[in-house]
Amino acid sequence: MHRFFIPPDWLEEDKVTIVGSLVHQMRNVLRLGPGDHIVVLDDSGWEREVEIARVGKEHVSGQVVDKRPASGEPRTQITLYQGVLKGRRFEFALQKGTELGIVEFVPLISDRCVIANLDDVDKKRERWQRIILEAAEQSRRGRLPRLRPATLFRLACENARREGLSLIPWEEAHDMEGVASLRSVLQEAGQPPLSVSIFVGPEGGFTPDEVALARQYGVTPITLGPRILRAETAGLVAAAAILYELGDLE
Ligand code: SAH
Repeated sequence: MHRFFIPPDWLEEDKVTIVGSLVHQMRNVLRLGPGDHIVVLDDSGWEREVEIARVGKEHVSGQVVDKRPASGEPRTQITLYQGVLKGRRFEFALQKGTELGIVEFVPLISDRCVIANLDDVDKKRERWQRIILEAAEQSRRGRLPRLRPATLFRLACENARREGLSLIPWEEAHDMEGVASLRSVLQEAGQPPLSVSIFVGPEGGFTPDEVALARQYGVTPITLGPRILRAETAGLVAAAAILYELGDLE
């Protein structure tokens, strides 16, 4: 069954009216017609199965036939603060992160970012939002991951401190003494459901000063092993390992 995130005001009691570009997709691309069933999600934590009644040029209307709690959400709430990347790499991180179950993305501007201007980053917002939406529908997420505005490193550290466990994967951490493993950090943090923030650098990584600053804010450096991962891989590996460790891939 095809799944669509819709604005809540398209729902009125047990009727749904779909407008805009989704009509074209449903009518001409997916060729849905009366009697077909779809699932709509209004990001409230519920999913509704809808039987299509009418497919017009401007509207698709239907009747809600079942309402159930949306599945597809992990208990662990992961926020990925991802250093902004060149080309399509950032989009890759958003798409795959959504499939994995990340609930929030924050484009992070740090010292070694090639694109370091907040306005330039925010120009890409609409496209990034679209990528998250499509990945969320395809991977059967129950809620749409949030895309926060681009944030400077220091401010991100400040915000993350308030949100629970914060980790900064750092490739130099592997050789450092006394750096905790991801598993031990998670085990000490207590029982899920848990909020975890992950800070991943851009292509050139974080500077030692940034890592020191993050530590002052209570962000814990961790290693992801002795191999250097590309920036768009590191957040996904960390997220997958966290979700696995906390039982969210079962
Ligand atoms: N500057 C480095 C690579 C940076 S990789 C170099 O070229 O050698 C980009 C980001 O991925 C890093 O900032 C870090 O957050 C993460 N990362 C990559 N490999 C990692 C590893 N083995 N352990 C922890 N973090 C890693």
